Amino acid sequence: MAEARIIDGRPIAEQLQAQVAAEVAQLKAEHGLTPGLAVVLVGEDPASQIYVRSKGEKSLAAGMHSVTHRLPEQTTQEALLALVAELNADPAIHGILVQLPLPKHLDQGPVIAAIDPAKDVDGLTTINAGLLASGLPALTPCTPLGCMIMLRETLGSLSGLRAVVVGRSVLVGRPIAQLLLQADCTVTIAHSRTKDLPAVCREADILVAAAGQPQMVKADWIKAGATVIDVGINRVPFRDPVKAAAGKTKVVGDVDYKSAAKVAGAITPVPGGVGLMTVACLLKNTVTAAKRIHGIEG
Ligand code: NDP
Repeated sequence: MAEARIIDGRPIAEQLQAQVAAEVAQLKAEHGLTPGLAVVLVGEDPASQIYVRSKGEKSLAAGMHSVTHRLPEQTTQEALLALVAELNADPAIHGILVQLPLPKHLDQGPVIAAIDPAKDVDGLTTINAGLLASGLPALTPCTPLGCMIMLRETLGSLSGLRAVVVGRSVLVGRPIAQLLLQADCTVTIAHSRTKDLPAVCREADILVAAAGQPQMVKADWIKAGATVIDVGINRVPFRDPVKAAAGKTKVVGDVDYKSAAKVAGAITPVPGGVGLMTVACLLKNTVTAAKRIHGIEG
């Protein structure tokens, strides 16, 4: 059988970033509106520092107003909630993203709940989750949005296809399943208690792996010709004992890519797939939020 088509995240993300930039230019010219994104980072987590820098740079490159609040590790819950309240009230800000995970002494739930749902560009408030589950216009989490753009780019219409999502988290699995349902797929959500997971996965025309389990999905879990979206980002030690001994790690997905590519019709690589879409989708959500706040159609 022929090797699967590789769904390369880079050109799709670049195209989306260019579309966002064009829309920002239009909003400025026609409505005098500059979409604004505020990113809040608490503490020194190295991976979060990289993500936050990228979000700041890409929003500026798209012509948006962009502010990054870097707060010290020992920031209190009250101080963080006060900053969220300030950003909720700031008319120049249309999107608020609090970078997760927060340091252990902070309680994530109340912080997310404090974000104005109209500015919740990470789509994490229960209001946005509820709107999405009701099939109403919502701000949708960025990674699921990215998965859908990649699927549409690959397959066109998704109507009537059997979709299996492995994972049921609020951030990834559940919203992806809701978006697939909205796209008229027949959707199964699998999780750690699912019986005979390989057999469930084999039913899928679209298989989304979002379990956080390195290379769990094997070739014989995949229906021939299926489209496989690998959301997983897992750091594992190198097999090479010298590199492993030096503490070096590499990133792999939830799918055993090499063997899966021999069976699937199309597949996203890790790295280089879904992960590249997330920031572009954040910018898209910020533009959507700005338009909704100002009552601009389209
Ligand atoms: P969570 O740990 O919050 O959720 C994992 C889900 O997978 C749970 O629903 C869990 O089931 C299920 N699961 C775990 N183990 C198994 C198993 N052996 N068989 C079947 N289901 C299982 O993770 P997230 O949803 O936040 O993230 C999932 C993956 O996606 C991670 O690798 C993460 O790094 C990555 N990620 C990638 C992003 C990107 O930009 N590409 C963005 C966000 C996340 P149960 O509910 O029963 O416990």
